[in-house]
Amino acid sequence: MTTPVLDTRGRRLRNLRVSVTDRCNLRCGYCMPEEEYVWLPREEILHFEEISRLVDVFIELGVDKVRLTGGEPLLRRDLPALIRLLAAKPALRDLAITTNGVLLAAAAPALRAAGLHRVTVSLDTLRPERFVALTRRDTHAQVLEGIASVPGAGFTGTKLDTVVIRGINDDELADLIEYGKRVPAEVRFIEYMDVGGATRWSFDQVMSRKEMLERLERRYGRIEPVVEDSTAPADRFRLSDGTVFGIISSTTAPFCAACDRSRLTADGLWYLCLYAMRGLDLRGPLRGGASNAQLTGLITGGWTARTDRGAEDRLALGQRTPLIQVGGLKRDPHLEMHTRGG
Ligand code: SAM
Ligand code: SF4
Ligand code: SF4
Repeated sequence: MTTPVLDTRGRRLRNLRVSVTDRCNLRCGYCMPEEEYVWLPREEILHFEEISRLVDVFIELGVDKVRLTGGEPLLRRDLPALIRLLAAKPALRDLAITTNGVLLAAAAPALRAAGLHRVTVSLDTLRPERFVALTRRDTHAQVLEGIASVPGAGFTGTKLDTVVIRGINDDELADLIEYGKRVPAEVRFIEYMDVGGATRWSFDQVMSRKEMLERLERRYGRIEPVVEDSTAPADRFRLSDGTVFGIISSTTAPFCAACDRSRLTADGLWYLCLYAMRGLDLRGPLRGGASNAQLTGLITGGWTARTDRGAEDRLALGQRTPLIQVGGLKRDPHLEMHTRGG
């Protein structure tokens, strides 16, 4: 029997993103613009059994959705073994992964066989030369091959996540929706955020939800909002042909008031907000022999004291510059989006 845990704003602890590695095989300019990074020490990375034990404690407290992320989660060796451990927990009604897709074609059947429910692939462009400019790697064909392999591996409910940046890929919104229809996958456009490695972020590069909708209405005609009672961050919309897409307006219209998500880094720090400057160390107590009751107490204490509404606070600032500068990220890599899991 789960006991729902509420934070100071009445938000439930429900949704956990688990980063399984801080490494990545792409260098997206809005996430990892540098060449050199300080990596988490290998011995501090949680073993699969440790992740599984923490997830059990989170489930006791109400978590029923887990998303594996990174860095690039498919770089973590033998990931299906972790998925098998998690998929065996009946209380998890949603077990998903967010991947850049580069290694997905080869991995998809084993992920599915291990019990993964759903796949989200990040895809910012359909143009190979643009992909190279955005990611500083020449693996666009592998990403498309990875996406194409997902339905054949038996997955449904696939999503494609696109970070929309003005002057970079904002001319591809309709092309991406058309591509999503063919996969099939639901496309979600994400407003460019000023978090982690986005040290080159500026407000004029953010295309707002409002502007995205205006553009798409010029192409498709009337767009209807999909009315649903959900805490999911995507506002979903329907084209007249029935195609549904999402917009995650984390920068111009944040959804902190309903935010039920928290993040566990690969080395076992627990962050209660994407914008939080500090996390709660769960690895130390876990490896120090803490009982499940003690871990439950730690997590409950953290969540019930939670006041975070990072994106709303940032929005209230009005004019703003990136949250953290390169020096700060090097001093504390936990502030990086690729460490925290996006
Ligand atoms: N490497 C995997 C991937 O790219 O799908 C998983 C980790 S990545 C950090 C998770 C998500 O965060 C990706 O969809 C990525 O586009 C998004 N992201 C990273 N930096 C962002 C930023 N500055 N603004 C908005 N989304 C961002
Ligand atoms: Fe890009 Fe994801 Fe890697 Fe960040 S972690 S550089 S978003 S692929
Ligand atoms: Fe949740 Fe923090 Fe993101 Fe707001 S900024 S939606 S509180 S993670």
